[in-house]
Amino acid sequence: MSKIIINQKEIAFKENQTILEVARENDIYIPTLCYHKKTGPASVCRLCIVEIEGSKDLHTSCSAPAKEGLVVKTNTKRIIEARKTIVNLLLSNGNHDCLSCEANGDCELQDAAYNLGIEAPAFTLDSDNKHRLEKDNTAEFIVIDHKRCIKCGRCITADRELVVNNVLDFGFRGKNIKVICDNDVLMGDSSCVQCGECSQICPVGAIIDKRAIGKGRPWELKKIATLCPYCGVGCQINVHINEKQNKIVKITGVEEAPCNEGMLCIKGRYGFDFVNSGERLIKPLIRKNRDQYFTETTWPEAIKFISDKFKEIKSSSGPDTIGGLSSAKTTNEENYLFQKFMRAVIGTNNVDHCARLCHASTVAGLANSLGSGAMTNNIKDIDKADVIMVIGSNTTEAHPVIGYYVKQAVRKGKSKLIVVDPKWIELADSADIYVNQKCGSDVAFLNGLMHLIIKNEWFDKEYVEDRCENFSELKEAVKDYTQEKVSKITKISEENLIKIAELFGKAKTASVFYSMGITQHTTGTDNVWSIANLQMLCGNIGKDGGGVNALRGQANVQGACDMGALPNVYPGYQKVSDSKINEKFQKAWGVNLSDKAGLTVTEMIKGAEKGSLKALYIMGENPMLSDPDINSVKKALEKIDFMVVQDIFLTETAMLADIVLPAACFAEKEGLFTNTERRAQLLRKVFRPPGEAKEDWQIITDLANLMGAGWNYTSACDIQEEIRELTPQYGGISWERVGYEGLQWPCKDLEHPGTPVLHIGKFARGKGLMKGIPYKDPDELPDTEYPFILSTGRVLQQFHTGTMTRKTAGLNNLAGPKVVISEEDALSLGLANGDKIKVISRRGEIETFASVSEANIPKGTVFMPFHYYEAAANILTNPAVDPVAKIPEYKVCAVNLIKI
Ligand code: SF4
Repeated sequence: MSKIIINQKEIAFKENQTILEVARENDIYIPTLCYHKKTGPASVCRLCIVEIEGSKDLHTSCSAPAKEGLVVKTNTKRIIEARKTIVNLLLSNGNHDCLSCEANGDCELQDAAYNLGIEAPAFTLDSDNKHRLEKDNTAEFIVIDHKRCIKCGRCITADRELVVNNVLDFGFRGKNIKVICDNDVLMGDSSCVQCGECSQICPVGAIIDKRAIGKGRPWELKKIATLCPYCGVGCQINVHINEKQNKIVKITGVEEAPCNEGMLCIKGRYGFDFVNSGERLIKPLIRKNRDQYFTETTWPEAIKFISDKFKEIKSSSGPDTIGGLSSAKTTNEENYLFQKFMRAVIGTNNVDHCARLCHASTVAGLANSLGSGAMTNNIKDIDKADVIMVIGSNTTEAHPVIGYYVKQAVRKGKSKLIVVDPKWIELADSADIYVNQKCGSDVAFLNGLMHLIIKNEWFDKEYVEDRCENFSELKEAVKDYTQEKVSKITKISEENLIKIAELFGKAKTASVFYSMGITQHTTGTDNVWSIANLQMLCGNIGKDGGGVNALRGQANVQGACDMGALPNVYPGYQKVSDSKINEKFQKAWGVNLSDKAGLTVTEMIKGAEKGSLKALYIMGENPMLSDPDINSVKKALEKIDFMVVQDIFLTETAMLADIVLPAACFAEKEGLFTNTERRAQLLRKVFRPPGEAKEDWQIITDLANLMGAGWNYTSACDIQEEIRELTPQYGGISWERVGYEGLQWPCKDLEHPGTPVLHIGKFARGKGLMKGIPYKDPDELPDTEYPFILSTGRVLQQFHTGTMTRKTAGLNNLAGPKVVISEEDALSLGLANGDKIKVISRRGEIETFASVSEANIPKGTVFMPFHYYEAAANILTNPAVDPVAKIPEYKVCAVNLIKI
């Protein structure tokens, strides 16, 4: 190994390391300001200067490479004097009164001054300029205090190269230089998405979290690393709490985290008010008659009431008249226990959860084609693809940190990007090719690509021959999907179809990322299988940077599936209908188990409507906003004999229950969440649950035991040990091993390192199964009565049914209910931006506001986010389901619009 001498000490270094990196690794202090390991060397502040023997100049160690035999000094008198001058100049030029600064105690300029022994600035400079710049307080969550800015440029580099939002820059020159947003507008008026990366990376107190101001000095705050509770990216967060007030002060990203490297989105960083909200449920609530309002009760009375009711219904009507909805917001251990409760204590496989509504078609399509229904690759390797195709995923809004990685890959010139989405999305700005297909025409589009790729022999023949089966069926099925025919169905030009096929087909490695734009259709399983077909055809599965990458929507929706919160499988996708598997679980759990697949979410609601489902136990789900055709869901839930809801708030669904149990939220429990790339990560406890709220696993255990289960779990960790024994792909995933890196399944035993990429060398099912899939229209198309297509989805600032995000006022200020409509349609309806409008479908109607200015949608199509109870998009949506996965068609239904 090569060696360098620093301060007379011989030190080994690795290839491509800088002098600064070698020094830091060996605990040699060199102050820096503009350098950050994520943004790299900038050589702007020059504070990291060192002497190199043989050179008369001082060199910036952040950019000087370590070389064999180099002799370096980091703390000579000359260096110290130069550093003192630099720090003195910075302190003099601006307002660095540490006493009133939020960063006091967590400031790199203060550290440098302290280490150099500077007590007060040596110069008085630029007194005119010093107080000229006002604080920019206009953004919801971030304050820019220009007087404290040292012009290091770290925020600008982070904005451009990490989160790639391209908002910040230096404006003006000379003594007037300052950080500006867009073309020098206030941050609140700019295109800033408030991800907060700039505030996290600012070395001083110039860019700060607005709501942390005055809530505690850095040394008064305790920092606990845990996981973001929102989308499936699985970002690791540090929760900074003021222990005296027992409240969250701020959240920062964990810099070492494998799936977010310190980056977060607006929800993960600022959407935490729900945790300490006064609206949290703190006692069990009961009503013995649905005409009454709830009254508070005790835990023993609540558990006894539920136990008696479940026993009564089970004995009078049979276990299959009871259903349970588990939750993607609770841990693996809690999902495991919930399905065990339904199967082993109630005696039914009627257990499901919200994956049915988002990625059931992924589970079905990928399990059948590849043998495993999960995202095949990992987040870290996104930039290893030569071509990335994003289809049916508004990634920067729904999975923002993955959006950053995709933009980084393009910015670095590593990957070309193809974006396919019915409406313009932010990623389209970074795309080499963007096309907007007609809603629901994905199978035709994918068949068209495969037709062109096969015709032009751009596919990987060897891979198809060696690793796949049924190629001839696929070839035959796509034969007629010529560019002329596909262009007519999809409304994508023939020219663009050819361009995409060529770019994708000729790429050495190409990846596909998709989300609910693909899955939430009556043809959801067909759509997913078509993507698998394309990726098998091009030999892109089982290699770094390639794959079929289904982006999961909730923090633990992958884990809830893995844990068997599904009606046909035990944990680890082991089929209930397989007699050997059934025997294994019967033996382990000591009870007889049903081998008959249970009901899905959508079937349970139908059962309730028909009267065949008598009782429902709902943990952390809100079907009254999340399910399609809410008016029918409400009628069904009102009809059901007995309903228990276990949640953190009195949700729209809880309002219909007979009994409501107060649960702990993500910050009040320990356990595993498994993110979209199959990485199990540990949730750590920040607070005790409020009032009498309990962790979900404790509630389930109490109930099971009163019903005679005899479980003796003392912690969630005990449950994980049982999961390890019964779930092959989690065999090596213990809390201890998970640490801060997490472990990706399959991880068979305690020696196994985890599996970042699936299907290397061989598919989980042996050979990849190709399938010829004909295009089918969506279930409901526009007509004269309902002439518009409605598509629903998420917006960046809100999450799912709004139960958590809507407790943060700043998020509500940024994103309220709306229907996005094209300028052409708005003109013909006489609508202006912000006008009130009625949206009507065959199932109901709602009132909301027109959003015309976004102008990102084709004529004839409108888009609504589904987060808002006051304008619930799912009153309108079509409950028609995919015949295999039973997922509803949220992405296409026919509506009419009337200006109010
Ligand atoms: Fe949380 Fe997802 Fe945002 Fe990450 S990208 S901070 S996991 S919501």
